[in-house]
Amino acid sequence: MDFLRQDIQYLKGIGPNRKILLNSLGIYSVYDLITYYPRDYEDRTIFKNINQLIDGEMVCVKVVAMSRVQEVRIRKNLYLYKLAVQDDTGTAICTWFNNKYVKNYVIPNEQYMMYAKVSRKNGRVELLHPEYEKIDENNKTGRIVPIYHLTEKITQNSLRKEIQIALSKINGTIPESLPQYIIEQYNLSDINFSINNIHFPYSKQAFIKARTRLVFEELLELQLMLLLLKNGYTNSLQGIQFDDISTDEILGCLSFNLTNAQKRVLEEIFEDMESNKCMNRLIQGDVGSGKTVVAAIAMYKAIKSGYQTVLMAPTAILANQHYQTIKSIYDKLGLSCELLVGSTTKKEKENILQNLKNGQIDALIGTHAILEDNVEFEKLGLVITDEQHRFGVRQRSKLSDKTQNVDVLIMTATPIPRTLALILYGDMDVSVIDELPAGRQKIDTFAITKDKEKRLNGFIVKNVQEGHQVYIVCPLVEDSEAITAKSVEKMLEYYQKELVGCKVMALHGKMKNKDKKEIMEKFKNHEIDVLISTTVIEVGVDVPNATVMVIENAERFGLAQLHQLRGRVGRGSDKSYCILKYDSFSEIVKKRMAVMESTNNGFEISQKDLELRGPGDFFGTKQHGLPDFKIANLFVDMKILNVVQEVANKIIGEDSNLEDEKNSLLKNTLKKKYSDKLEL
Ligand code: ADP
Ligand code: MG
Repeated sequence: MDFLRQDIQYLKGIGPNRKILLNSLGIYSVYDLITYYPRDYEDRTIFKNINQLIDGEMVCVKVVAMSRVQEVRIRKNLYLYKLAVQDDTGTAICTWFNNKYVKNYVIPNEQYMMYAKVSRKNGRVELLHPEYEKIDENNKTGRIVPIYHLTEKITQNSLRKEIQIALSKINGTIPESLPQYIIEQYNLSDINFSINNIHFPYSKQAFIKARTRLVFEELLELQLMLLLLKNGYTNSLQGIQFDDISTDEILGCLSFNLTNAQKRVLEEIFEDMESNKCMNRLIQGDVGSGKTVVAAIAMYKAIKSGYQTVLMAPTAILANQHYQTIKSIYDKLGLSCELLVGSTTKKEKENILQNLKNGQIDALIGTHAILEDNVEFEKLGLVITDEQHRFGVRQRSKLSDKTQNVDVLIMTATPIPRTLALILYGDMDVSVIDELPAGRQKIDTFAITKDKEKRLNGFIVKNVQEGHQVYIVCPLVEDSEAITAKSVEKMLEYYQKELVGCKVMALHGKMKNKDKKEIMEKFKNHEIDVLISTTVIEVGVDVPNATVMVIENAERFGLAQLHQLRGRVGRGSDKSYCILKYDSFSEIVKKRMAVMESTNNGFEISQKDLELRGPGDFFGTKQHGLPDFKIANLFVDMKILNVVQEVANKIIGEDSNLEDEKNSLLKNTLKKKYSDKLEL
């Protein structure tokens, strides 16, 4: 049997207990073991002399043991082990706690390599809890040593040794997994060199070469999978061919002309809709770029071709707002449009369901929940979901149970840097509305600290006196709605006192939907001047008279989120402001605030945010939809990702199903790795 596929238990020195421990790290086969990549490395290629050691540094020293290790009992279950060592330049004391093993390992007058943190006090040098290794022929020169993620009871040394044993047994016989032509073209190292040097790098250059190849391979496989997935959707599903409908009538109902970006994106959508392939397209557009109208026009085309349409929003408030916008247009066109949300009465709901079934309703607007309900259509043709700031959560699987082969359009307001978008949405076609309607003003943004609070309050009152409205947003406190509600209440008390003559109200997640809706309505009708809320308002309310957005504890928000929130103002013709109150001395926070002050461009902001925080924090939550990588790290590997995306496009462009012999290795790997997603 193939040695790599063998159970680790057959490896020398690994018994049943050890096997269980290794299994807990996800290591089952020899292959798993050798692809359990280090999380970090220690550079032991440079040795220092004892007289050069500096307090606090991590170093590698070559020493001779001056005696046996002494054991000192400090108290029950706590033993200190001490060893005096020396080199040509001085002496030092090594100390360990509860390390019985070292006592038997060290032999007086033998030479050892110690890797430790230095403590140097009053001329006395101590090496704290060193890693130790006897010096022999194999390790005289010092090395770059791998550090692995471990669980309890597994030590770095034992895992290193096992990997070493496996690699020496394999002895360069791991079969190559990348096609030779790719290895040559991109000057990549072969698989055996790479795996050997990722664990035990021969030199720094060797490590970089090994890592580059493994990252390249991992990203290439992902990117190819996404492209194949995309081709799979579009080729296998026979979609509806919508008619070539003139849009003159609906455009005549709008009070403005479409931007060039809106026109271009609509053309891309129309091309999908008119073709017999199934549309699976993402529309990315900054807040206020006018996605709703684009949706309304795409829906119009579907309706005029004889189909029903659905538009789903992430919250009831937003669904309601889309409904108002679209209904006002469709009323003029004699098209029927209904709203279905949680608060719709039972009777209304029954009515709507009935009319959907018999085809009386052209457009249904609601929350994402509507497709889970027992909703039946006479002839559904187009489904649009508005995800706002949510990432990568695709509704396709749910949709496809309900109705096969409908065209799907997803709208998102999150400007994701292009390279990341290709991973998150790599299986979709992407259109970008990269232009705001003319006449939009820049929203002046100021980041302030607590000492300017009074001035800010005066500024708010002044704006209210001039007839404008103000949002104040507080962050969620520790993910707890209950605690947050309290802090919103406190904030309400504070501002009601400070903002003399202003009508201040609060809104938070703990409130009943009915009450929330009522307050939003009141704010919309200008019965409220200042609205304090948690981020529930972030998802798209449209109150053009609101000109000031104040964000409390702005340091707790991601930049993408701050940008979303800021987009709530500046919707009318009046000059608007965003004030970021922050409470932190961190340099990173200051830099992030400065980014918000300097630009209103969502793509620029997301790119900067990515640079400042790295992809993990950039997305904030685990549900970002980015895959877990074994070795790639999108933050440092962006350059490789860019190359890989080109390579993947080229491969699939020339050989759409990987049928060419030269790509057979890739095909085999993908077949195994993504058997749940792809049919190859
Ligand atoms: P988004 O959903 O992309 O954040 P909306 O669709 O809510 O943006 O549009 C924001 C505002 O801009 C709405 O009031 C809308 O009527 C208006 N709008 C949309 N397109 C245009 C345009 N081409 N010219 C002027 N105003 C527009
Ligand atoms: Mg189509």
